[in-house]
Amino acid sequence: MLQLSGYQLEHFELPVVRLSVVRPALCLPFPVPSPMHICLLDIDGTLILTGSAGHAAFAETLAHEFGIAEMNGDVQFAGRSDRAIVMDLFRHHGVEPSVGNWQRFCRSYLGRLRRVLAARKGRVLPGVEQLLSALSTRGDVAIGLLTGNIRDGARHKLTHYGLWHWFSFGGFGDEHTERCDIAAAALAAAKAHLNGNQHLNGSQVNLGEVVVIGDTIHDIRCARSIGARCVAVATGHSSVDDLRVGEPDIAVETLEDIDAVVAMFASRG
Ligand SMILES: [Mg+2]
Repeated sequence: MLQLSGYQLEHFELPVVRLSVVRPALCLPFPVPSPMHICLLDIDGTLILTGSAGHAAFAETLAHEFGIAEMNGDVQFAGRSDRAIVMDLFRHHGVEPSVGNWQRFCRSYLGRLRRVLAARKGRVLPGVEQLLSALSTRGDVAIGLLTGNIRDGARHKLTHYGLWHWFSFGGFGDEHTERCDIAAAALAAAKAHLNGNQHLNGSQVNLGEVVVIGDTIHDIRCARSIGARCVAVATGHSSVDDLRVGEPDIAVETLEDIDAVVAMFASRG
C-alpha cells in the first residue's frame, strides 16, 4: 500500500511508458579519407638490369677525370648509394673525397651514362610493368623511388627503359651515403607529395602502409629503419634464401608474383 499525501491508495499502477531509443548513426566531426599507401622501389636489380652500365660509366669517369686506370674491385656497389661508392673509390685511389671532386664526378658520369646505357644490353625485369600498372590502377598507392642512384642517374636509367613516368617522387643518392637516410628522405618526399595532393582536395592524408621493394639486404634494413614493410625480390645478385636472412615480410623470385606484392597494401589486422 502506498501512502500519498494523506490518502491511502489500494491500487497504484505506474503507467507503462515505452521509450523508443533512436540510435544515431556514428557521426565523426570530419569524414576520414581512405588510407593512402606508399610504395618505394629500388632501381638496379629490382626494376631493371642495365648490363652493368652504371658500373661501366663509373669506371670511365674515374679513368678520364681522375686518371684511375683500373677501378678497385673490392668496393661494393649493390644496395649502396652512388655517393658512398664514389667516396670509397676516391679514398682507395688517393683522390680527395671533397664536394668539388664529387660534383666533378657527377657531371662526367651523367654525360657518359646515357651513351653507355644505349651500348649495353639490359632489360626491364619480369613483372615490373604489370606491378606498376596494378598499383597505379588502384588509385590508393603513391609510387616512388628509394635508390642509391643520384637523381639524374635514376632519371637517365629509367627513361632509357621507359619507366620514369611511373614515379612522382623519391629518395636518391646525391647527398646521403647511408641508405637509411635515403629511406627517410624518400618517406618525407612521399608524405609531401601526398599532402600536396590532399591539400588540393581540402582534406588530410590518412597514411596507410609503407612498402619498400628491393633486391638486397640493404633494402630490407632501410625499410625497417622507417617502419616500412618489405618485399625482397631475387632478381639482383641475391637469392631468395640469401634475402630471407634479412627477414623481409615476403621474398619472391620475381615481381611477377603480383598478388603477393599487392596483398602487402591491405591494412594490418
Ligand atoms: Mg638494387
